[in-house]
Amino acid sequence: MMGIDNELMSILKCPSCHADLRMNSSSLVCVSCANCYTDVQGFWDFFSTDTHSLKQAERDHYTEKVDYYLQMHHAWCLSPFYRHYHRKFLNELRRLPQGALILELGCGLGHDGAELLRSGYRLVETDIAPGQLLEAKKLHERCGLAGKSSYLLVDAERLPFEDESFDGIFMVATLHHLPSPLQSLKEIRRVLKPKGILILGTEPNTWQHRTIYPIGGMLLRLMGRRSSEREDISERVSQADQQAEGFSAIDLELLFRDAGFAHWELKPAGYLSAALFFIATEGSQILNRNIRLFALERMAIPIDEALGRLPWLRRYPWHWNAVAYKRG
Ligand SMILES: [Zn+2]
Repeated sequence: MMGIDNELMSILKCPSCHADLRMNSSSLVCVSCANCYTDVQGFWDFFSTDTHSLKQAERDHYTEKVDYYLQMHHAWCLSPFYRHYHRKFLNELRRLPQGALILELGCGLGHDGAELLRSGYRLVETDIAPGQLLEAKKLHERCGLAGKSSYLLVDAERLPFEDESFDGIFMVATLHHLPSPLQSLKEIRRVLKPKGILILGTEPNTWQHRTIYPIGGMLLRLMGRRSSEREDISERVSQADQQAEGFSAIDLELLFRDAGFAHWELKPAGYLSAALFFIATEGSQILNRNIRLFALERMAIPIDEALGRLPWLRRYPWHWNAVAYKRG
């Protein structure tokens, strides 16, 4: 049976009814609704199978394809675009005092979490997919950060935590994978401390889903590559990513407002540099060779920073970073 440190046990609650959990011989049992939570691959599992089928599909995809994502991350993490905008949202979190308790939802392979652990934060890493969480834990162990974080399998729309538990919560490229982003933001607000902050990292904007992606698909069809490419895409892209339409500025503002956040800031995350990153990653996949546009991406970043300050253009970046504040 896995142990749980006292601090984590004090904030863990039943995700269904928020009542206390008791540990018996091999599971955590809710004292109120009697729901029972067991471990999967060595992690406490708060995911419930009687949920939206999309969540189960995401859980399976990100576990089965973990080797593909490990390989892709090798390419991504060298990209100046990727590094610049990850550094920016991590620096938003670094405004919290050292030792603050941070929750990551959808931690994936755990690279952003490793950065925060190195900066002296206490961290609860969560993901819906056991395969990803296992890699995050292994990465932290390889980086000499073993035992510094907790790891839980969690549904981001039903959080297994006490109200007002965390100083900061962040999710990177995760919100658009959820059937109900609003439900997730409400849960996040519930478990944030009164002055807590939520950081969203690199969420896609809507416009490219309505322009670039359909036009790209048409070009591929003209090139006669569409049928094989379509099979390839449904193989490597998760169901949620295939269905995603991104978030416009208004979408995000309404979500934050309806979830009850006091105020928020939307921060453009890439124009030209993001397009170059997209061309390089998609081009590499389609042409089956390693395309890197790092020098161009590097030149584009200061231009993008300037574009993001223009009144109209600041609503049309490729991706968003965002900060939302629970109160005042
Ligand atoms: Zn319960």
